[in-house]
Amino acid sequence: MATLNSNYLKLKAGYLFPEIARRVKAFTEANPEAASNMIRCGIGDVTEPLPLAVREAMHAAIDEMGTREGFHGYGPEQGYEFLRTAIAQNDYRDRGMEVADDEIFVSDGSKCDGGNILDILGSDNRVAVMDPVYPVYVDTNVMAGHTGDASEDGSYEGIHYLECTAENGFVPAIPEKKADIIYLCFPNNPTGAVASRAQLEAWVAYARRHGSILLFDAAYEAYISDSSVPHSIYEIPGARECAIEFRSFSKNGGFTGTRCAFTVVPKELTALCKGGERRPLHPLWHRRFTTKFNGVSYVTQRGAAALYSGKGKAEVAALVEHYMGNAKILREAVASCGLKVHGGVNAPYIWVKGPEGATSWQIFDRMLSEANIVVTPGSGFGRAGEGYFRISAFNSREKAIEAADRIKAMKW
Ligand SMILES: *Cc1c(COP(=O)(O)O)cnc(C)c1O
Repeated sequence: MATLNSNYLKLKAGYLFPEIARRVKAFTEANPEAASNMIRCGIGDVTEPLPLAVREAMHAAIDEMGTREGFHGYGPEQGYEFLRTAIAQNDYRDRGMEVADDEIFVSDGSKCDGGNILDILGSDNRVAVMDPVYPVYVDTNVMAGHTGDASEDGSYEGIHYLECTAENGFVPAIPEKKADIIYLCFPNNPTGAVASRAQLEAWVAYARRHGSILLFDAAYEAYISDSSVPHSIYEIPGARECAIEFRSFSKNGGFTGTRCAFTVVPKELTALCKGGERRPLHPLWHRRFTTKFNGVSYVTQRGAAALYSGKGKAEVAALVEHYMGNAKILREAVASCGLKVHGGVNAPYIWVKGPEGATSWQIFDRMLSEANIVVTPGSGFGRAGEGYFRISAFNSREKAIEAADRIKAMKW
């Protein structure tokens, strides 16, 4: 008899977004008139059209594919040279960081990369995550068998949760316990918090001291408005020896449906092997890529490369400005209700502390029924998120303004 991967059975059944969908459905079935009135500020998906520079490049690539000379079959698994060079040059070398073209691995998404990276790491690592946390980091470790069972509050035995609270500005303190793999996400989803240079320096020092690896998710780096905040972990000296960076075109270029992202694996990055010696991870990630992946489509990579053209950069800046304009409107609306508001300055997420004593799901239900607004309950991101809710700024301006007005009209 075949057996299944029992680790999957440890996953908490009531995953966040299906539960939100269930409650919205139940509410609109009972109140059909509310269905068309609903404003979704929940799931972190972009709303604005794909930049023109991207569409033009993709159209041209499609036409190329229609010719014998311009046809592209299998490409290099790790990405076309034109895109790897554009990334390494624009995102890193032009900003004073040393990253080689062949340290860039182009993929179909950061979500996949975040899960796949576990393939090249040992199964005996002690894993630490921020709490609240992007659920992908935790669930992929559960699936890989790196945890025990879930407890009542949804946390897993064997994972070290680093509490992010208003007191620490949602940037976790350096743990006293030793962790081998630490997931960091800045600007943060869901809290919108950013880490200062000094805070990242402390993490890099910690990782180097313990031989740990930082898995640094910078999906929202384009949203940083404060010029003193690092955009990449490699802005910190020594990070090349202890960090992998995840980036995505989803949130800057509106690629959530188009799919393109990349990881940076520096050649200096090493980890311990069974024999006790340190070996570089770059060849392993390269091997994984070439064995289990056949590359992102040529058309998509041409589209992604266009984000680095003058026109593409201007369009990304306009998208960021649009979403951050929404963030400002929503932030101010929430603050005017007397609620404590975080984020929304260097990230498209606003993290709000609900009224004293209210649980995240109670606030969710109230906002759904009283204002027909869908937010994300903070407790869905971890125990430390209880009592909070997340508002996404990914919306049209019209909807953001309407949501802000409805929030202000609620009796908090
Ligand atoms: C949206 C998001 C990503 C990007 O994921 P893709 O699979 O590239 O779309 C990565 N990390 C976080 C925290 C995100 O919110």
